[in-house]
Amino acid sequence: MTDHTNADTLRTPIVAVLGHVDHGKTSLLDTIRGSAVSEGEAGAITQHIGATDIPLDTISEMAGELIDPSDFDLPGLLFIDTPGHHSFSTLRARGGALADIAVLVVDVNDGFQPQTEEAIDILRRTGTPFVVAANKVDTTPGWNPQDGQPIQRSLEAQSERAESMLNENLYEIIGQLSDAGFSADLYWRVQDFQKNIGVVPLSALTGEGVPDLLTVLMGLSQRFMKEEMAIDVQGAGEGTVLEVKDERGFGATIDTVVYDGVIRNGDTIVVGGQNEPIVTEVRALLRPRALEEIRTEKKFEKVAEIGAAAGVKIAAPELDQAMAGAPVRVVRDRPLEDVIAEVKAELAEIEVDTAEDGVVVKADTLGSLEAMANALREAEVPILRAEVGDIAPRDIAVAETANQDEHKAILGFNVDLLANAESELENADMKLFTDEVIYQLIEDYETYVEERERAQQ
Ligand code: GDP
Repeated sequence: MTDHTNADTLRTPIVAVLGHVDHGKTSLLDTIRGSAVSEGEAGAITQHIGATDIPLDTISEMAGELIDPSDFDLPGLLFIDTPGHHSFSTLRARGGALADIAVLVVDVNDGFQPQTEEAIDILRRTGTPFVVAANKVDTTPGWNPQDGQPIQRSLEAQSERAESMLNENLYEIIGQLSDAGFSADLYWRVQDFQKNIGVVPLSALTGEGVPDLLTVLMGLSQRFMKEEMAIDVQGAGEGTVLEVKDERGFGATIDTVVYDGVIRNGDTIVVGGQNEPIVTEVRALLRPRALEEIRTEKKFEKVAEIGAAAGVKIAAPELDQAMAGAPVRVVRDRPLEDVIAEVKAELAEIEVDTAEDGVVVKADTLGSLEAMANALREAEVPILRAEVGDIAPRDIAVAETANQDEHKAILGFNVDLLANAESELENADMKLFTDEVIYQLIEDYETYVEERERAQQ
């Protein structure tokens, strides 16, 4: 059935993993990568570049009878594997979604939680197709692990009691998806994954159901997204910054997902920066070495070019001002000014309404800044200034200028207080709130405001 004539112009679909804290996103990504952070490899593994390519061959090996590789001409799946909330907050590019598909991880025992709802809102807003990974099925009392079985058969092999307990939890999740406006069912009952959300019961711990998940993702992309995967492989590279990191010997580098075209060593690139777009020249394109070699000093291998879709670390001058979530564009076959204008336009889409008086917001990426701004708008908290980056002395000074005392505050999402801001903070006439969970951060701030009001009465 497969038409291979265009195979070299189809890129790998990009997959993001979202979900509530502790529901198992990191564990699932680790299992998919076949590497366990808990095995003391944390140091090595965190050196990765934010995205992992799982070729079709590997998926096919894992999935055995579930998959017939000749049905597919997409090359595999690229997982954005920055852990937890980061994948969530870097989910945007070109005003839509960076990821083509998402996996929403839900703990079967815990069901929908605040960050599950937040993730659903983002998926709905960006129109990103998704499947639900109903994780931790192994915690069902009496669960009997069935290695190498499709999860449907594994479920049938459980005791009646275990099966009915698990089913109850699974149908609870299906009901919650329905309350959120999505029709959903266990994945083997779903005919049309565009109309219905497939729920894949699995265990990130035992690995049961993970091949099923990969199969469903592969099938979904092949059947419904193939046209969107068609790219001009030789075109000017386009990507998104996942993270800005200092790397010994290279200075500031950007972990980037390339979703279109090709980036070559020596290319001129334009990257979204804190103030102005950064125009620079690629000094090195870096990919992590194989695991066994990572322990040596040389963590990275230099490559001459990288095509979509793939993760790459880009080393170039001036990247210290780059912003996570910002666009990366190769300048090729068109004027530099046009590319700069395009990057500016894309950044301008991330709108934060600021007021004359309000709180200061800092966030780790553009996507999370936008999510914070949306959440604060809903909570009717005005924003004086909103920026990407860690908390600097200047932010403290700005927060102190707020008129109303309750607005003299900084809300920091996934950011640190810079060392040189610590002493400033001690004497500052304002409050600092930081958290890694948006709703928690806003709740803490609201509680503070309420307590202030009560104290004044
Ligand atoms: P994250 O915050 O969503 O990234 O969640 P983690 O992957 O860090 O998982 C949170 C906790 O749940 C950890 O203690 C994991 O070991 C545990 N966990 C994750 N997946 C499973 C699973 O499938 N089964 C069991 N029993 N525990 C799991």
